[in-house]
Formats: sequence, structure tokens, C-alpha cells
Amino acid sequence: MPLRIYNVLGREKQDFEPIEPGKVGIYVCGPTVYDFPHIGHAKTYTAFDVVVRYLRYTGLDVLYVQNITDVGHLLDTEEDRILKKARQTQSKPMQVVETYTKAYFDAMDALGVGRPDISPRASGHIPEQIKLIETLIRKEHAYVSEGSVYFDVTTDPDYGKLSNRRVEAQAAGSRVEVRGEKRNPEDFALWKRADPEHILRWDSPWGEGFPGWHVECSAMAKKYLGATFDIHGGGIDNIFPHNESEIAQSECANEVDFARYWMLVGSLMVPDRDGNPVKMSKSLGNFVTLADALKKYRPEAIRMFMLSVHYSNPITYEDGAIDGAERGWERIYNAVRLTRRAMNSAPAGSGDGSAILDVVQKTRADFAAAMDDDFTTPLAIATLQELTREVNTLLNSGTAVGLDVLNAIHAAYTDLGGTVLGLIPEHDAAAGGDGAREGALIELLIKMRAEARVNKNWAESDRIRNELAKVGVTLEDRPDGTIWKTT
Ligand SMILES: [Zn+2]
Repeated sequence: MPLRIYNVLGREKQDFEPIEPGKVGIYVCGPTVYDFPHIGHAKTYTAFDVVVRYLRYTGLDVLYVQNITDVGHLLDTEEDRILKKARQTQSKPMQVVETYTKAYFDAMDALGVGRPDISPRASGHIPEQIKLIETLIRKEHAYVSEGSVYFDVTTDPDYGKLSNRRVEAQAAGSRVEVRGEKRNPEDFALWKRADPEHILRWDSPWGEGFPGWHVECSAMAKKYLGATFDIHGGGIDNIFPHNESEIAQSECANEVDFARYWMLVGSLMVPDRDGNPVKMSKSLGNFVTLADALKKYRPEAIRMFMLSVHYSNPITYEDGAIDGAERGWERIYNAVRLTRRAMNSAPAGSGDGSAILDVVQKTRADFAAAMDDDFTTPLAIATLQELTREVNTLLNSGTAVGLDVLNAIHAAYTDLGGTVLGLIPEHDAAAGGDGAREGALIELLIKMRAEARVNKNWAESDRIRNELAKVGVTLEDRPDGTIWKTT
């Protein structure tokens, strides 16, 4: 079955056909770096992390570009978010940018989100943006007004095609009623004149100023992926005006299609005081930083939570929601640990238990079918849960399962759950962050308990078991050794 993607542009599921066979260019709108990343960012960027992981897993050569917005993203008050933070913290704008760019990548690294191949910064691509604006002026899609440049939305009959928002036809003579510098209220800034106190400023043919937010993505996507590329992604909340304006700028300037497939991720919601879900956002002040969430939960539990809904759907974050995902993750991961333990003492060859190979094969096929159907991660996770039930039954039955069988089970977990979903650490000791240390310490205590038992020191053996139980680690003695589970 071919990979199918729900294309927001056209609002239908379509077969995915890359422009160049075997290769995929993907551009995802990145963060504006003026504050710490919150768990809403984890929803968007985990989704695209899994998309890129899966495309690569299927053998495609992916070029993943995700920008860093460090200039031009204005508040409703027209103040640049970066400049506001610099003013509040009495620091230089580029200090703000460095601080929060680092915080963003630190949090994404900890979450197991792979780095994009290219992370271009808006402030490093001013000449490309000026060139694009000049083209739009030359083609009469943009106009200069008192040192700023605006895109005239009435020159683009396609404006609104992504978000299904159509600009109202202007009544004759109404233009003169539009106040200020713009011809039409919907026109958006490509370049803004810098007031004397504005620190982020560059020379341009229209005087000193700075680029608008939307134009950076058009300029940088073209520079790294070409005028037409395969997939454009982002959060659904940026569909208008940001994504819509990107399309207008790029298609009017280049006179070819911009991105062929648009994939937009549903928001992370939090209940407001009345229990109604509202979007988590910095501006609403209702956010949980990713760093705080990572102190409380394993990265895999956060990923499991985010991937438990289809990427296009919203998810509601409330107390206990990630705990539930963590328990679900542990059920799968405990089976992986059980498999690894069995591999240490398994007889060579296929031995007994080879009937499960059919289950492994079916898991792989069902997983691929779920991912090929517009990256349906909840169904993909369900295939691993089904496999886990079968593996637990087999490995707890006392059957002498052969090493070849165990290797096949293990490979399914690490390929699908590890390589694609980022939920299964490659080694137990590499479980990430405190989990790695914790696992090593528990293994050490299990060894000390085994020594105590060899010496018939039952009191010490019981003490270790009871102390571990107090911190939520239960031990289970099996013929082939002791395994542990967190509860
Ligand atoms: Zn963008």
C-alpha cells in the first residue's frame, strides 16, 4: 500500500508521490525563540520527528528543514517578541535568541526529537528575503508605503486556498476608507520600517527596517528545498495568516506551486477554569515548560502521550494524563526487558515458541499499514500492545524460546517502537536521563541481593526487595534470574 497523506491543501487523503523518486524535502515552521519551549511544542515537533523517522525507515532520503524565528514575529501591539523579552530582561536581543534557541534544542534532544538537517535563522537570511520582496514588487504583488512593504492580497486570486478564508471583494471606492499605510486591511507586511529605537534593523532598498514573519519561511524554504518541494508542516494555529501568506508570497514570486502536501498538527489543549479546552500558549500564560515535564516524566512517556492521538487531532493535557501514557509505555517496555533477559540464556536456533513469528510478521505489516495511512500513530502503538500481550504470554509460560525467535521479537520492538516511534531505548542502560542511572542502580541492587541469597543472608535479601518496593520497583524471581518492573 502506498503512503497516503491527508493534504490540508485540498482537504483530502492523497497518495504521496515525491517530486524526485526516493527523495523527500520537508519544511516545518520552527519556534520563535523568546521563551522556554512548552509541552505544546512537544506535540508538534514529536509529530514531525516521527514522520521523518518513518519516511527514512521506509528508505526515503529526507532533507528536513526547520527554521528558527529570531526576528519579525510581532505581537498584536506590533512589538517584536524578541525585543520585548530583551527589554524585560535588560539583555541584548541576540542574547535572548541564543538562550532560547539552546533551551529549545536541549529540550528536543532530551525528548529524543532528532535535529533537523538544516535549522536556518531568519536573521541570517535577510538578503534572500529582500530579494523575494523585490521580486514581488516588480511583479506588482507588493507595494512600498512609507518605508514598509506590504503584500497586496487582492492581486492573488488564490489567497485563502489553504485556510479556506477568502478576502471579501472590495466594494468600489472602499479603498480610500482604509486607514494607515495599507491598501487593504488584509494586506500583510513583507518589510517593516524600523522606528529609531528598534534595535533589530537592516539596510534595504526601502530604508532601514526588518522583515515580516511570513517572508522568512518563503525565502528559506526556497533556498534549501527549491521553489517547489514535497511537504510543508507546522501547527494548525499558524494556518492563517502565516502559512497562507507563505503560499501567496512564494507562488506569486516563483510562479510555480509551493509545497505539494500540507500537514498541520492539532494543538495541545488545557482545560480552562470552566473545564473547556483552550490552547496551551505562551501568550495565554497557561503553559508547562518541557523542561519541567521532563523532570517529572520519562521522555518516552511524553512521546507516548503525544503519539496517542493522530497528529492532526488536538490533545488535552491535564493532571495524570501523562501518567496514564507512562503506564502504557511501561507495559510495552517491560516486555522488551523480559525479551532481553531471555536472550541472555536462550538456546541457539529457533527452539520452541516459533509460532510467535507469525505474530511478529503481522505486527510489522499492521504497523506499516497504520503508518502508511497518514501516520496513524495510535494504531501503530496498538500493534505493539498486541505483540506485547503475546510476548508476555509466551515468555511467562516457561517455554524454552530459541534465540532466533527472541531476536525476531526484539528487532520488531527496536525497529518499530525504537527507530520509528522513539519509544524503545536501544539498550536498557541507555533509557535516557535519570532512567539510565536508575536502571543501572536497580541492576546493582539486584546483584547485591543475589549475593546475599548465595550467602543465605535472607534478611538482607528481603531488605533490598522491600526497600525497592517502597520506591515503586517490584522484583520478580524467575528460573533464569530476577527481573524488575516499575509500578
Ligand atoms: Zn513558517
